[in-house]
Amino acid sequence: MTTRSETRTTLDHLLTEIEHRNPAQPEFHQAAHEVLETLAPVVAARPEYAEPGLIERLVEPERQVLFRVPWQDDKGRVHVNRGFRVEFNSALGPYKGGLRFHPSVNLGVIKFLGFEQIFKNALTGLGIGGGKGGSDFDPHGRSDAEVMRFCQSFMTELHRHIGEHTDVPAGDIGVGGREIGYLFGQYRRITNRWEAGVLTGKGQGWGGSLIRPEATGYGNVLFAAAMLRERGEDLEGQTAVVSGSGNVAIYTIEKLAALGANAVTCSDSSGYVVDEKGVDVELLKQVKEVERGRVDTYAERRGSSARFVPGGSVWDVPADLALPSATQNELDENAAATLIRNGVKAVSEGANMPATPEAVHLLQKAGVAFGPGKAANAGGVAVSALEMAQNHARTSWTAAKVEEELADIMNNIHTTCHETAERYDAPGDYVTGANIAGFERVADAMLAQGVI
Ligand code: NDP
Repeated sequence: MTTRSETRTTLDHLLTEIEHRNPAQPEFHQAAHEVLETLAPVVAARPEYAEPGLIERLVEPERQVLFRVPWQDDKGRVHVNRGFRVEFNSALGPYKGGLRFHPSVNLGVIKFLGFEQIFKNALTGLGIGGGKGGSDFDPHGRSDAEVMRFCQSFMTELHRHIGEHTDVPAGDIGVGGREIGYLFGQYRRITNRWEAGVLTGKGQGWGGSLIRPEATGYGNVLFAAAMLRERGEDLEGQTAVVSGSGNVAIYTIEKLAALGANAVTCSDSSGYVVDEKGVDVELLKQVKEVERGRVDTYAERRGSSARFVPGGSVWDVPADLALPSATQNELDENAAATLIRNGVKAVSEGANMPATPEAVHLLQKAGVAFGPGKAANAGGVAVSALEMAQNHARTSWTAAKVEEELADIMNNIHTTCHETAERYDAPGDYVTGANIAGFERVADAMLAQGVI
């Protein structure tokens, strides 16, 4: 039997190899480090996981598709963007994961997101593999017609690679209900098939699930509540600092209010808003979702309780809880130190990998409950899988039923992470718990299915 330290050395070699074979992909390296660094105890304890090639296969995507996306703007000028779909692992089910449209998108970003997605999807227990895609297209400031032409061009290539039993994309940064609509329309036109289960996050009149838009934010709040419960506390009366003002942030703020807590901030890439009375979620929806405006407009309309701070760090605002809900590496070591100084009790990741490794380390060392994204924000993909189930059965569930399922799934994920961490001598460490529990499910399926 190999010892933990021998296993750690093997995993360290593998990480060096990953960096060497995937140059210029820092986000992917970061995600691989974050997972592999926690696996030594389980690999040492279960000799089958030390089988040569198992982890090497896990860190190599099954398929990576890169393609050209040409489109014309409203003035007739041609633009050329790059499209990506990384089909990472299908041992547990069809590849599943969102599409991100943002100028920062590159292969390394999509691979980090796809890698995370493997373990997140495994944790839901719903039979979905991991994948992710997107483009370096920037939808900000584009007309609806431009976004439609872009989506149509993107899908004209992507359609060859997806399908309800193969690969099922959804939304992410820059891809919401509008984009999913244009993408689905083009898929239907090209294939001449009503294949509802090929995309999730659809509109409610044409195959979408109730509570899908809310699911990631609601799920993260439920995960934070479960972490607090474990420490004998609840959400009632707690204040929260939330970053972002998109899909995840909005429904995080909504659910916090519904459970008696108060989110006092929101943000976008221009700065942040502090609202002493608590963010008015209906006004925020109007500004961001209907008018596609910026958070400074929210502050202007809200009146004296709110002020807009251009630039700056939203994490400077004191609160009991922090729920980062914008993007990767938005909460660094300095921000973590400020949160700790201000007495934060729990940090729960709505975004993917928003806290840097140094920040996570600092928070855990200070005894702050820390919910990693692959567990805490899994509610979105979980309800996407429920959307696929409803599409398959040609039925649609009530909001109450979907919410009940979501709550069960989030509580199960919390329990699984918590118990797994205890089993591997890391009580209260949800990072280790989530990584090992997700890994065990995927690794067992990969071993059973042979070397493919
Ligand atoms: P949206 O596009 O709806 O909103 C993104 C928000 O984050 C906007 O307020 C945006 O501001 C801000 N943001 C994005 N990039 C940056 C940046 N580089 N710097 C500062 N602010 C930024 O995306 P979502 O809410 O869907 O996604 C947010 C996060 O949650 C992402 O990490 C995503 O991967 C993760 N996630 C989303 C799920 C979902 O179901 N949608 C599921 C699980 C995780 P601005 O408009 O100024 O760019």
